[in-house]
Amino acid sequence: MAKSFPHSLVLILFTILSTLSQSILAVKYVAINDAKQFPGGARFEREIGIPYTLQIMKKINLFIYKMFQQKIEGEKRTIDTVHLYIQQFDGAEGITYGDHVNVSALYLQGYQGNLKWEFTSLLYHELTHVFQWISGPMGLVEGIADYTILKANYYPPGFAKPGQGDRWDQGYDITARFLEYCDSLKSGFVAALNRKMKDGYSDDYFVELLGKPVNQLWSEYKARYNHNAVLPFAFRQRFR
Ligand SMILES: [Zn+2]
Repeated sequence: MAKSFPHSLVLILFTILSTLSQSILAVKYVAINDAKQFPGGARFEREIGIPYTLQIMKKINLFIYKMFQQKIEGEKRTIDTVHLYIQQFDGAEGITYGDHVNVSALYLQGYQGNLKWEFTSLLYHELTHVFQWISGPMGLVEGIADYTILKANYYPPGFAKPGQGDRWDQGYDITARFLEYCDSLKSGFVAALNRKMKDGYSDDYFVELLGKPVNQLWSEYKARYNHNAVLPFAFRQRFR
């Protein structure tokens, strides 16, 4: 004869589970290696694997929610399942469409170094595209994705140093460093900017959040780091 739980305990457990499922556990993760027959797909199996991928997808998802400080459901994009595929394609390390992330097996094949680390770094970038609000200049969207890499401490040696670049919306690591500066002026700036981007984009968001136009902030940022002198151009040719 089976023992039954006290009703009150069942009720408490049910409440906890339903609360959790409404917030974090609602997102599901699927990872599939469609390129096992290719060298990059085989290398993925040897050096990374599906179990690690599923584990890191969840970890990164939680990191991004925390970074964006999205406590209310309406502030988040509604994502039911994140799909990740290892596929044989050229021209980019990874491509994200909606809740689908495709990682290039050709890229994995050719990468020199710690592949697991690099793959994790790439996923911090690509998964940001899944969870961020996408509007405004693409350079800003890509900059926020690289800002996640920066905050997660998963940025590669060639990542831009503070003060580098020509334009605030140049994209990737250049814009990520500028966003880091803006966030240093007002903690939570990037999270607040992302929340505003839910309803479209305006340069005025910088004035609303930091009290200054974005071009003035960029000039002050450049002046602070005094990087108008000749510097090696550190922008990596990474396309994702
Ligand atoms: Zn990207």
